Amino acid sequence: MRIDVFTLFPAIFRGPLDESILRRAQERELVRIDVHDIRDWTEDRHRTVDDTPYGGGAGMVMVAPPIVAAVEATLGGNLGRVPILVLSAGGRRFTQDVAQRLAGEQRFALICGRYEGIDERVAEVLAADQISIGDYVVTGGELPALVVIDAVCRLRPGVIEAASIEEESHAAPLVEYPHYTRPVEFRGRRVPDALLQGHHARTAQWRWARSLARTARWRPDLLVQPPNLPDAPTDRRNGTA
Ligand code: SAM
Repeated sequence: MRIDVFTLFPAIFRGPLDESILRRAQERELVRIDVHDIRDWTEDRHRTVDDTPYGGGAGMVMVAPPIVAAVEATLGGNLGRVPILVLSAGGRRFTQDVAQRLAGEQRFALICGRYEGIDERVAEVLAADQISIGDYVVTGGELPALVVIDAVCRLRPGVIEAASIEEESHAAPLVEYPHYTRPVEFRGRRVPDALLQGHHARTAQWRWARSLARTARWRPDLLVQPPNLPDAPTDRRNGTA
């Protein structure tokens, strides 16, 4: 998979892409991530990338020409075939489903905004989707782009162990069950008995129930229209669900 990122601040990507799982995925050539500086496609002496908004108002808007030139030059003949996503606080919500879909692509591109945002014609000319990592505003598209890159790359075959992905939050329409490790007792709190008995079915039942309870507590919105809730695992020995 190849990901092209267009930004005014390429240095922001250095730390996160150079550590841990994302670094190893690149070293093993499972993903290639190219970060492009939009300023390299400006044509004036001052390398101008923003201007005041038509219609007035606070702040500056990123101008279209260098962004479109950067994307067109980089994607070349692949333009129109490669999904292009503009990071935008008002865009379509980025979810695990969207991450799954992107993980199935061979290549996609991310455009990071700054200031008040990007001239709308960039998305129009490039037929780009607009995507938001959540209902809040951060100062630039770089951190959201890193969120997208991380969420997508870990779903690519070989990047992390497949079993880790199957059971986690949002893989099902529930959030994940709580995790425990040693010590068995910490500050008077014991690991739940169901996890200490080495009984597979009972562990699965307990996890399903805790998963449902946590979803109800922290993400009740996910239960409003439950789409295909997974069945409670059955304990075959005593027939309970
Ligand atoms: N004026 C914009 C608005 O009200 O929607 C906010 C601009 S924000 C300060 C600057 C840039 O940060 C945006 O162009 C976008 O690229 C990025 N950004 C901010 N919040 C985001 C979010 N929740 N998801 C994705 N990108 C975001």
